[in-house]
Amino acid sequence: MNIALIAHDTKKELMVQFCIAYCGVLNRHNLCATGTTGKQVSEATGLRITKYMSGKQGGDQQISAKISCNEIDLLLFFRDPISAKPNEPNEADLLRLCDVHNIPVATNIATAEALIHALERGDLDWRDLVNPSR
Ligand code: PGA
Repeated sequence: MNIALIAHDTKKELMVQFCIAYCGVLNRHNLCATGTTGKQVSEATGLRITKYMSGKQGGDQQISAKISCNEIDLLLFFRDPISAKPNEPNEADLLRLCDVHNIPVATNIATAEALIHALERGDLDWRDLVNPSR
């Protein structure tokens, strides 16, 4: 499965801790991330992660494009719901595209934990059956 990771600045440490905790599950999948999130997670965990541009430079739009091409199976996007972000419209579009393409998406750690357990159990494998070429 292809998993994308994005974390706002105030949630990056949480993402790092989450990925440390679930490294054993995550390392069985293809990971990609926006630039800074990917750098921090890979340095802390040793996970191999394809890094796109930073969110502010268009990294979230690069991930949006992959979602549009059906190349992402799961998005973990730890958002800061309190402070306004300059690229907020792009992020709203990212979430919209997840709904268009039926991509499971977590915007907080509680949902991310539920999804990672589902991933571990194989509950999300139907996506590979629908798209065997990936
Ligand atoms: P970043 O991007 O991982 O490069 O910081 C995420 C964001 O939009 O804040």
